[in-house]
Amino acid sequence: SAPTTVAASAATGTAAPARSGRGLVELRGIRKSFGTLEVLRGVDLTVRPGTVTAILGPSGSGKSTLLRTINHLETVDAGLVSVDGEIIGYRREGDVLHELPEKEVLRQRTGIGMVFQSFHLFAHMTALANIAEAPRRALKVPRRQAEARARELLALVGLADRADAYPRQLSGGQQQRVAIARALALEPAVLLFDEPTSALDPELVEEVLAVIRDLAREGRTLVIVTHEIAFARSVADEVVFMDGGEILEQGPPSRVIDAPQHERTRSFLRRVS
Ligand code: ADP
Ligand code: MG
Repeated sequence: SAPTTVAASAATGTAAPARSGRGLVELRGIRKSFGTLEVLRGVDLTVRPGTVTAILGPSGSGKSTLLRTINHLETVDAGLVSVDGEIIGYRREGDVLHELPEKEVLRQRTGIGMVFQSFHLFAHMTALANIAEAPRRALKVPRRQAEARARELLALVGLADRADAYPRQLSGGQQQRVAIARALALEPAVLLFDEPTSALDPELVEEVLAVIRDLAREGRTLVIVTHEIAFARSVADEVVFMDGGEILEQGPPSRVIDAPQHERTRSFLRRVS
């Protein structure tokens, strides 16, 4: 069937959508409604390569939806997302954006790792198989090679000895570390985390944060939705505070966490700290 097309100006809501600039991830004018509920009200965000961006904000402020627009798990009503210079979900032809076929979107997603609150491991596969699966399927990496890389990634997240364990035999913290290793297996340009420690018992939170901290130290590009304020302060280059579908303030932790300008940021930080 013919591809769906939209005029670029209509899809972006702006006259001149930004071309790829200094950002590895760029969001421009992102708007999204569910029915009559406007969840994202024009969000602009630039994620520079090799940086960690922490997204904070109250429940319902649109953090997950924003994260999901980056890998096209949510479509947008207006605006553009680009990753590594490529528009996500669309191909530009002159002034017109053509929606990409699902296969192309899946290819784009291989460059964007995502880690969810609730692990999402395949229950019937070992830790090793969970990690080796995507490279084998999406990139047609031969089994031996995919498994060798999976073992390296298990070692990276401190689980070298649990390769043959099934998810139910692992703690929540271990499962989440496998999920992180799995997200890394496709060598993504950017890794997205949506409240990666919110489903964990308190004593298991630190082991997962430690893995994420290591990834930050390696210079990976990370975007992390979290309520762990101390963690965000120590690991983030850029902190974004969202409220009501908008970015209310943004800057280094020394500003947004330690000296917030807005009363809504201050009251949020009082509640979660
Ligand atoms: P956060 O992650 O900051 O808690 P979300 O992005 O999950 O916020 O949700 C923002 C708002 O959008 C909430 O009011 C939520 O109920 C609503 N919402 C999210 N996803 C959907 C959906 N698929 N359908 C309808 N409403 C949704
Ligand atoms: Mg959320």
